[in-house]
Amino acid sequence: MSHITRRKTHQVQIDHITVGSEYPVVIQSMTNTDTADAAATAAQVKALADAGSEMVRITVNTPEAASQVAEIRRRLDDMDCAVPLVGDFHFNGERLLAEFPDCAKALSKYRINPGNVGKGAKGDEKFAYMIRTAAEHDKAVRIGVNWGSLDQSLAKKMMDANAAAGNPKTPEEIMKEALIVSALESAQKAVDLGLPENKIILSCKVSNVQDLITVYRDLGSRCAYPLHLGLTEAGMGSKGIVASTAALSVLLQQGIGDTIRISLTPEPNASRTQEVIVAQEILQTMGLRSFTPMVTACPGCGRTSSTVFQELARDIQQYLREQMSVWRWQYPGVENLNVAVMGCVVNGPGESKLADIGISLPGTGETPVAPVYVDGERKVTLKGDNMAQEFLAIVQEYVKTNYGE
Ligand code: SF4
Repeated sequence: MSHITRRKTHQVQIDHITVGSEYPVVIQSMTNTDTADAAATAAQVKALADAGSEMVRITVNTPEAASQVAEIRRRLDDMDCAVPLVGDFHFNGERLLAEFPDCAKALSKYRINPGNVGKGAKGDEKFAYMIRTAAEHDKAVRIGVNWGSLDQSLAKKMMDANAAAGNPKTPEEIMKEALIVSALESAQKAVDLGLPENKIILSCKVSNVQDLITVYRDLGSRCAYPLHLGLTEAGMGSKGIVASTAALSVLLQQGIGDTIRISLTPEPNASRTQEVIVAQEILQTMGLRSFTPMVTACPGCGRTSSTVFQELARDIQQYLREQMSVWRWQYPGVENLNVAVMGCVVNGPGESKLADIGISLPGTGETPVAPVYVDGERKVTLKGDNMAQEFLAIVQEYVKTNYGE
């Protein structure tokens, strides 16, 4: 779809999903349920998968959580949901994997944070146990370093070396270097312990956009592991969306990033699936992948005579998104459909002609009619109170005719 050249990486197989430069950028998400509650967690994983998440991470933090992972997998299988489950381990992963072999098997990938495994020989042992378990069960591992839980002994060692050399680098530069070194050294340890290179994915998450770009560019130039991109603690609402989009777009444009997660703080009780939709929209608007037909709509202005056009744009986008769970199989290629909903004659006809189907609603002072354009040609003019339903019927007919067998 795009002319972006991806950075060459190993290809990592995670069940039916492959992460790497030869495959489309994969979308991931994470649950916020208590994993010990198998019913709630399986339901949320299913909702995320239905929304388009191609892997879903669940926290595995306690024996109660670990004891339910196989049950969550079973429930998902019963619902015909094959999405790979990723286990997020911190502090006690080796113990949970040892005590709950069903959990070790049911997960498709383990996320290990080197900063939270433990220090010294004991930490090395714990890390080795997790890596050997992954190798034994043929599981992929993401070595996920995070600014907020960076290995402090490594950072101190690098700070001391910098001081001994007369401080050629700033403390901030050293911290970023420490993130990268932590990821690369941990990956090398994993390989030395017997985990194949094509089972390893790396991430180095930070919460500042410019730092994330710098760190990933550097990390990407120093290894061939696929990279998981995400701005950690991106925040709530538009701030989280904008910050994530800004950071990830720059990296993706440079071919860096093989799987992404948008870490939004949801509004209380809001759907967790928003992070999946934002991830899809980033990839689709950049021309990297297509997931759902896109609605082009003008922002509206003083020429807009009513809210009809905003409502129509919203309803059509929602309708198209909801249809995709069926249309994806029924009408292959329909995700590339482009629909325009415009507020008046100024830009309405032009944008409508560029779309597959477009409608130019009447603005203030215009004749109350709405010309509809199909494949660039004016096909019909709608009028009266049922314009929205009639336009929807035209869209449905177009999809059937152009994408049906
Ligand atoms: Fe305003 Fe018309 Fe432009 Fe929409 S198309 S923003 S209503 S001038």
